[in-house]
Amino acid sequence: MTDLETNIGKLNAHLERFRAEGIRNLIGGASVPAASGATFETHSPVDESLICKVARSSAEDVNTAAEAAKVAFPAWRDMPAAERKKILHRIADLIVERAEEIALCECWDTGQALRFMSKAALRGAENFRFFADRAPSARDGQNLPSPTLMNVTTRVPIGPVGVITPWNTPFMLSTWKIAPALAAGCTVVHKPAEFSPLTARILAVIAHEAGLPDGVWNLVNGFGEDAGKRLTEHPDIKAIAFVGESRTGSMIMKQGADTLKRVHFELGGKNPVVVFDDADLDRALDAVIFMIYSLNGERCTSSSRLLIQDTVADAFLKKLTERVNNIRVGHPLDPATEIGPLIHKEHFDKVTSYFEAARADGATIAAGGQRVGDKGWFVRPTLFTGATNDMTIAREEIFGPVLTAIRFRDEKQALTLANDTQYGLTGYVWTNDLTRALRFTDALEAGMIWVNSENVRHLPTPFGGVKASGIGRDGGDWSFEFYMEQKHIGFAT
Ligand code: NAD
Repeated sequence: MTDLETNIGKLNAHLERFRAEGIRNLIGGASVPAASGATFETHSPVDESLICKVARSSAEDVNTAAEAAKVAFPAWRDMPAAERKKILHRIADLIVERAEEIALCECWDTGQALRFMSKAALRGAENFRFFADRAPSARDGQNLPSPTLMNVTTRVPIGPVGVITPWNTPFMLSTWKIAPALAAGCTVVHKPAEFSPLTARILAVIAHEAGLPDGVWNLVNGFGEDAGKRLTEHPDIKAIAFVGESRTGSMIMKQGADTLKRVHFELGGKNPVVVFDDADLDRALDAVIFMIYSLNGERCTSSSRLLIQDTVADAFLKKLTERVNNIRVGHPLDPATEIGPLIHKEHFDKVTSYFEAARADGATIAAGGQRVGDKGWFVRPTLFTGATNDMTIAREEIFGPVLTAIRFRDEKQALTLANDTQYGLTGYVWTNDLTRALRFTDALEAGMIWVNSENVRHLPTPFGGVKASGIGRDGGDWSFEFYMEQKHIGFAT
C-alpha cells in the first residue's frame, strides 16, 4: 500500500463520524443542530465530493451562543488563573494526541498539502501552551504613585468575545485567536469559515473534553452574511477578533458600529520580497519559492510580489522558472505533494482569472498559468515576469500559488515599488549590506519584516499589519491588550 492509500484509509475512518452525524454547533456544552434545522454541504476541493452536512446557523443560534458565553463569563473570569492554565495545557495535550486526525481532515477540507499541515496541529498546541503559561500574569498591573494617591493599574478580561476565522490554515488560526482569549479570562463564540468547518469542530470538542466549563467556548457554524454578521452586531459580544479579507473587515467595522465593538483585524496582503544583487542569491531563491508556493500560496504572509534587481534578474528568474516548473502538484494526502487544490471553485475562478489579466496587461507567463486535471481545483504554480507595479497582478491579492516578478534599478526605486500598495502586512528583504537593510526596513510600510529570512514565527513577537492589512497585533502580551481592559484605581494616601 502506498503512503497515499494509507492516508486515505485513515482519513476515511476519521470522516465516518462526520458523515453519520454531520457537523453540529457546540453551544453551552451541548452539540446541537441549527435551531431552524438548516444545513449546508461541505465538499472536498480534491474531487468535489461531499464531505458532510454542516449546521447552517442563523441569528437565533448566535443569540443562544452569546447568551451561553455571557452566563459562563463571570465564573471563567474568576477561576484562579493557575486552573485556567491547567485546562489550556490539557487542550494542548489532546491536540497533540489527535494531531494526525487534525492534519488529515484539514488537508481534505482545504486542499493543503500534508507535508505542511502535519505541523499545523502541533503549532496549534504550541499556541495553547504559550498563552496557558501567561494566564497567571495576564492581570498584572503597575503601581504609579503620585504625591496624594497610590495609583494602581490592573487588567480585566473584556467579556464574551466573537472570533471569526478564514478557510486558510483554519485550525492553526483558530487556536491563535482563541487561546489568548481564554487565557485572558474571556469566553468565546467562534464562527469558523463555511468552507473548512471540520477541524474547528474537532478543536471545540477537544476543549470540551479537556474540561473547559460549558459555555466558555461556543462554536456556531454558518455563513458570514447571517451568522457572522449577527455575531458582530450582538450587544453582549464585547469584541471581535477577525481574520479574513480586507473588505470583510470594513463590513465588520460597520456592522459593529452600533454596539461600539472593539475590533482586531488580520487582513490581506500583497507582500514584497526584495532581492538586491549583493544578497546570498541561492538562499533568497529558496525563500522566494517557499514563501509563495508553500500552503498553496493561500497564506496572508506570502511574498506574492518579487522585486528583483536588474543586475541579477535574468539569472535569478531563469533559475526560479526551472524550480517552479518542478514543483509537484498532487493529492494533498500524498507526502510528496507540494501543492494541492485551491479551496473551492469560486476561489479557483478568481485565481485563474489572473492568468488572463496577466496576458491582457502584457506580462509574460513564465511558468504555470494552467489548470491541472479536470476534477478538483488544481492549478500549476505560476510565475509572471515582465510585470510592472501598476498591473492588476501586482496590485490585487491573488491568494494562490502565483508570483509576480518586477525588476528594479536601485534601492530608491525598490522602496517606492514595495510601498506602492494598499497593503502592509509583511516584507522580506535580501541584502548583505547592513546599513541598507536598516535604512530600507525603517522606511518599508509593513507590520512585520524579515531580513535574509523567510517568515519565521516567534510567539512573543507582535503579529499584524498596517494599511489595509489590519488593525492591532497578536502575540506576546499584545493579544492580552486586545482581550482585556486596563483599569486604574487611585487610593488616597
Ligand atoms: P473572508 O473575509 O471571505 O471570510 C473570513 C470569515 O469571515 C469567514 O468565516 C466568513 O464567513 C466571515 N464573514 C464573511 N462576511 C462576513 C460578515 N459580513 N460579517 C461577519 N463575518 C463575515 O476571508 P477568506 O476568503 O475566508 O480568507 C482569506 C483572506 O484572509 C485573505 O484575504 C487573507 O489574506 C486573509 N488572511 C489574513 C491573515 C492575517 O494574519 N493577516 C491570516 C489569514 C488569512
